[in-house]
Amino acid sequence: MFHTSLNTPATSDGRYALASYGWDEGRTAEFTPHAEQGLLPGRVVRVDRGQCDVVTSAGVIRADTEFVVPRDPMKIVCTGDWVAVDPEGDDPRYVRTLLPRRTAFVRSTSSKRSEGQILAANVDHAIIAVSLAVELDLGRVERFLALAWESGAQPVVVLTKADLVPDPVTLAHLVQDVETSAPGVPVLTVSAMAGDGLDVLVGLVRSGTSVLLGQSGAGKSTLANALVGEDVMDVRAARDIDGKGRHTTTTRNLLALPGGGVLIDTPGLRGVGLFDAGTGVGQVFSEIEELAKGCRFADCGHESEPGCAVCLAVETGELPVRRLESYRKLMRENQWIVAKTDARLRSEIKKDWKKKGAEGKAAMEAKRGRWR
Ligand code: GDP
Ligand code: ZN
Repeated sequence: MFHTSLNTPATSDGRYALASYGWDEGRTAEFTPHAEQGLLPGRVVRVDRGQCDVVTSAGVIRADTEFVVPRDPMKIVCTGDWVAVDPEGDDPRYVRTLLPRRTAFVRSTSSKRSEGQILAANVDHAIIAVSLAVELDLGRVERFLALAWESGAQPVVVLTKADLVPDPVTLAHLVQDVETSAPGVPVLTVSAMAGDGLDVLVGLVRSGTSVLLGQSGAGKSTLANALVGEDVMDVRAARDIDGKGRHTTTTRNLLALPGGGVLIDTPGLRGVGLFDAGTGVGQVFSEIEELAKGCRFADCGHESEPGCAVCLAVETGELPVRRLESYRKLMRENQWIVAKTDARLRSEIKKDWKKKGAEGKAAMEAKRGRWR
């Protein structure tokens, strides 16, 4: 979460201000029918119970989300959404519609209700921070990668605190280990402390919207501060303590960066589980899926089946056994989540049928259609 006194970059031309939040020509086209109704475009920078803060060409406004709260928790307004809100003068102002999401981060909730929870929308780059100060946990990196691929965003791994690995040979080996676990993903090394490698990261986040993922202590806040160029992370406490009455800071989860690009940080993104991320897992282990095409059986489980190309690759040393085990683990975990979700949907539908009898059947059919 950013606690910031930075203002909305505003010019006399409202469109330009929204462009610094990621507005583009595609959005202009999507918004045309809403503009004709006199609604204002804006991007959600923060959501709290029933309301949200939306940055518009007229600054940040508060809007009610009552009209766009559907039964499907995946469609709830979230940070990063582009929305249409009531024009100035209306009080209260409502979010009237959501523009289509290009990407979405979803996590499984830890609660018994095993539905997905939407964390952030319209993210282009998922920056996965991994600390070089502790032993590499490649399984964890792969989990974050699966989540990132599944969202539709392009993952990037940033190995942080490179100053703590002064030996270039050791560093090269660590980078190589991560690269082997992250096919198709750029791997950068940075040291926020020494200021090394930041220029590459700055160049990357300059376009589109980025999120920082990674374990606590990985160096995300430090990176965010380096990208924003001022201490925006967790500085509010310090300001409150200094007793100078500076209460001008606002809390938001989405920030336009001074050099271009947008950064999202929501608390929920920091410790995420997979949610129906089968596609994402497949992308993390693309070399295994590629090998599997050579297995004799189309439904090969790569355990000890005859003619298993994946097992053969492990035997010849082409595929590290750790990768195969990690792949199995994430696939199993994902299947379990999917099964749990389906079971809940099934029982909910059944309960409803019993209650409403045959009359309700048609309605439930329609509902099931919507869930797909
Ligand atoms: P977060 O929990 O992911 O937001 O991690 P923080 O940004 O709070 O960083 C965790 C710790 O790592 C802090 O004590 C930072 O000072 C330290 N740290 C961050 N970046 C670097 C770096 O480039 N080099 C070194 N040596 N320490 C760093
Ligand atoms: Zn196989």
